[in-house]
Amino acid sequence: MPAQVPVVDYLVLEPEPRLKAVACSGCGADFLTRRNACASCGGADFADKSLATEGSVVAFTIVHRAAPGVAVPFVSAIVRLDDGPIVPGNLIGVDPTPEDVALGMGVRLTTFVAGTDDNGVEAVAYAFAPRG
Ligand SMILES: [Zn+2]
Repeated sequence: MPAQVPVVDYLVLEPEPRLKAVACSGCGADFLTRRNACASCGGADFADKSLATEGSVVAFTIVHRAAPGVAVPFVSAIVRLDDGPIVPGNLIGVDPTPEDVALGMGVRLTTFVAGTDDNGVEAVAYAFAPRG
């Protein structure tokens, strides 16, 4: 198996793919990226927190224009994870049409290889797919 690296710091690949947050020790607010201070309470102490791998779609848009090389249309969504945090992610495994995507639809975190460098290292990205 080739070496893999996540495309974002908040994606953990082993032992099973999942997203992680930094949780404020003062008020419990979750953030996907490192913070100098909590946007909710101003606290400066954080701890890593593993997030649920399932959630539901709370907003989405179907994207028809993108950078060169990016296949369109695709579904860009906002997902509320089952343990509360709200995260962005594209939907895969659905037709990118209003008929096939719905608010409240259950989704599960999944990963895919977004690219490979000259040394064979795979860049792994995440998306959400309908719950099976
Ligand atoms: Zn806080």
